[in-house]
This record gives sequence, C-alpha cells and structure tokens, in this order.
Amino acid sequence: MIFENVLVVDPIDGEFVGSVETTRGVISGVKRSIKNVDFEYILMPGFADPHTHGSIGVDALSMDLKELKKWESFLYSQGVTYFLPTTMSSTPSAILSSAKIVREYLENNNSTSVGGIHYEGPYINVKKKGAQNPSLIRKIDLGEIESTLIETVRLITMAPELEGFIEASKLITDRGIPISLGHTDASYEDMKRAFEAGCTRVTHFPNGMNTLHHRELGCIGAVFSMPFSVEMIIDGVHSLPQFVKMVYDIKGPEWIMIVTDTIDAAGMPDGEYELGGLKVILKNGRPTLEDGTIAATVLMFNQAVQNFKSFTGCTLKDLARVSSYNSIRLLGIEDRGRVAEGYLANLVLLDRNLKVVETMLKGKTVFKI
Ligand code: FE
Repeated sequence: MIFENVLVVDPIDGEFVGSVETTRGVISGVKRSIKNVDFEYILMPGFADPHTHGSIGVDALSMDLKELKKWESFLYSQGVTYFLPTTMSSTPSAILSSAKIVREYLENNNSTSVGGIHYEGPYINVKKKGAQNPSLIRKIDLGEIESTLIETVRLITMAPELEGFIEASKLITDRGIPISLGHTDASYEDMKRAFEAGCTRVTHFPNGMNTLHHRELGCIGAVFSMPFSVEMIIDGVHSLPQFVKMVYDIKGPEWIMIVTDTIDAAGMPDGEYELGGLKVILKNGRPTLEDGTIAATVLMFNQAVQNFKSFTGCTLKDLARVSSYNSIRLLGIEDRGRVAEGYLANLVLLDRNLKVVETMLKGKTVFKI
C-alpha cells in the first residue's frame, strides 16, 4: 500500500508532506517531498485507548467473543488500532472471566487491536469511588490479586494509600504489569512512595482523586511536581478545556494520554444502561448514576482527539504523542506508535478537520468511509 502526498505526522520526527509505503504489515518507506506540494489527508499512528469499559452495548465485564469483535470493529471507525477493554470493581471470578475472554480472543486473532485487559479496581479507595460500585471495592488481598493475574492483564488501577499497596505493587510489577494510580485519596507522600516503587502512571487525572491544597499537595500536587504520566478524559466535562490546557502547558505533551473511559452506552441512543451493577441514565449524551454522579463517558476517541487539539492548540506532532505514542510506550510496546520505517503499519488517515477517513491495522484497511 502507498500513500502519496499526505501530511505525515510522527511523534518524534514531526510533520512533513511525503509518501508512506507499507509492505507485509510494516512501514517499509517514508519519503519527504522535495517540492512544496499541497496535501489533502493526514497520516498518523493509529490511536490507542488504554481505558474503555465498553461501547455499542458491549461491556468488558459481561462480553463474549462475538461482542468483543463488534466492539473492536466499532473502534476502527474512530481510528483506534490499540485498546484495553477495562473492567470495573467486581468479584475476582468476574474480572478473571473477562481476562480469559480476552485471552481466548487473542489466541484466535493474530491481527487485532485488542492489547489485553485493564483492571480498574477493585483495590481502590471507596471515598473516591466515582461511578464504581462501593459494595465491590475491597481491601488488598495478595492471594486474590495473584489468582487474577493471567498473561493478558496489561494494566491495573489501584489506590496507593491502601494497606499492603507496596507489597501488592511489587507482586504486580514483577510480572511486567504497570500500575496506574487512581480512585485515590492519597497524600503527596503516598504518591511519592508509589512513584519510588515504580508506579509512574495516573488514571483519568484529575477525576476520582483529592484536590490540591497548598499545605497538602495531594494527588494533583504530586502529578504536577513529579514526572507522572496521566490519562485524561478529553470530553470538556470531566475536565474543563482550560484545565486540559493547563496540564498541557505545565506538564507538556510527553506526559498526557487521551482515554475515553466509555461505557457500553457509547454509540447508543439515550436510555437506561448498567455499569458495574449500578443503573446509568444516558440523557443528551451524558451518562450519570441515579444520584447525578458522572458515570464515565460515551465519548468517541476521534472526538477526544479533535477536542484536545482545539482545547490546547497543540501541534499535530503533539497530538500523535497524546493519542497513541505515550500510551503505547508506557505499556512497554516498542513496535508501533510511529509513522517511520520498520514500525507496524497501524495507521489512521484523517482529513484536514481530523475526521477519520481510513484505518489500517498491519497495513490492511479495517475501516474506510
Ligand atoms: Fe474510573
């Protein structure tokens, strides 16, 4: 496959008009145009979403193989070529059975955008539960954690102030699984201790955590004063556009990862849905619990990318970092996330308004308008 006269956007090499060729699933050539030519389309690394609970009626906690396939196809239409189905706080057997579905899916599909599973909870702080079911949030239990750690687990969100966190983090990170800090009431010192133990990532910042005080910097102060990478939900609701811009200005594009945190109601009409055993009402595109608590999102990844650009005024090079490269690298994956020779041809072609035109997985078209 060859793309001629496109605006190539690479998170390291930047933006330039040129041509990109793919051979047997890999980018085999990237050439800059010598002449000053105009372009119609933009070619970027396929998007990565490490935090999504579901879409189009599919929920990570209850899905079967067919539903996971449907979810994957839906995400191709948004340019996503890597994602982690994400569970909520639930019983060990429920989260383990989701991980086993993902394992079976990966065994049956050698070309897929499913990267593994993200467990968000149940070892989080009930004080910062957000839309998680409080009856399923639990104390750290090393035996229980061990029983749920199969090879498809790629990420675990936990609260660092919980008793036994450091021992648990050792058990988990020794298996090569990163921990993301979230749904937490941690002090600055708790965050620092977790950082020093190798937990350098934060879940949907600054949602589900305490706020900044000048005598107790808390989670937000910790993020601004230490090199944490942060997931952010870029819907303009979970954080105001001005806050997103502030994080971008203070921390920079190297430290932000766009996530959608969508639930099964994404891509569905208004109505009643369920999230981790709790009733969710979707009205005018806004999902809430019965008490009005924001219940995740129905945000489309491609919309989040457009939002990030308009909230921050960033370059496309920065956009490639926050929409793909940072998330992929932080999971220890090195073979994709760039538009450069030798990398997997997981790509998204966009028009000048950043609307998805075509999505490619290993050089094969998986979505086209
Ligand atoms: Fe959450």
